[in-house]
Amino acid sequence: MTKPIEKVAIIMAMKQEAKPLIEEYNFYKLPKIFDEELPMEAYHIDKEGIDITIILNGTDRDFQLDCVATQPATLSAFLAVQHFRPDLIINAGTAGGFAQRGSEIGDVYVSHKYIRYHDRRIPLPGFDKYGMGNYPCLNASRLAQKLGMKLANVSTGNSLDITPTDLAIINVETPVVKEMEAAAIAWVAHLYRIPFIAVKSITDLIDNEQAVEQEFIKNLAIASNNLKKKMMGVIDYLVGKSIEEL
Ligand code: SAH
Repeated sequence: MTKPIEKVAIIMAMKQEAKPLIEEYNFYKLPKIFDEELPMEAYHIDKEGIDITIILNGTDRDFQLDCVATQPATLSAFLAVQHFRPDLIINAGTAGGFAQRGSEIGDVYVSHKYIRYHDRRIPLPGFDKYGMGNYPCLNASRLAQKLGMKLANVSTGNSLDITPTDLAIINVETPVVKEMEAAAIAWVAHLYRIPFIAVKSITDLIDNEQAVEQEFIKNLAIASNNLKKKMMGVIDYLVGKSIEEL
């Protein structure tokens, strides 16, 4: 008999991405959970016996903006493990997709096979592969099918824009979505041998004419709302299931 999932940590970068889900499922803020120097915040619910905590990267003290990208994501993942010891880590957020590979604004993807970096280029023996990471993620194809989500390789980098070199590396994978946190979290999950998936809602299409930052701002609300709907489905789907059943 396999063990049902008891604790889940959902790591999210931006408040606007998390707000719809926090409100819909009445997550409540856990007071004083992390050191007060840290920007990270934690929100909690008990969903039919599963302990679910959203760890939000929080607001940068100096810039008064959401702490996006890999540096805070690594720290959030470490805090999630230290404080909550989850059976499963989910990184939920937004990403860029490719119209030529079937992505549309608001599509929600589940990570497939592995998460890699497209901007850690270290052309030295062995370090080339190390740089790319290729951290494993859980095979969640049943969950994806059940909830009507597409599967994609997730490619992480620390820039919202894209260089031709990044693009050439990303283009090796198909389908693929591009974002700024998943590989950092997948690395921590891999270190602790905790199963990991990413759920990413498309805010922008990298291969169209529009500037990524304008598209991102324009579509953030719709993408976050779709992310909420799918994440509600994911949370409901997890109830009573073991990791092996996902
Ligand atoms: N706060 C800024 C932008 C945040 S950076 C603003 O409002 O303009 C973008 C965030 O969305 C990151 O957390 C990243 O994971 C995700 N993202 C969405 N589309 C992306 C893309 N095309 N490339 C990289 N990251 C993307």
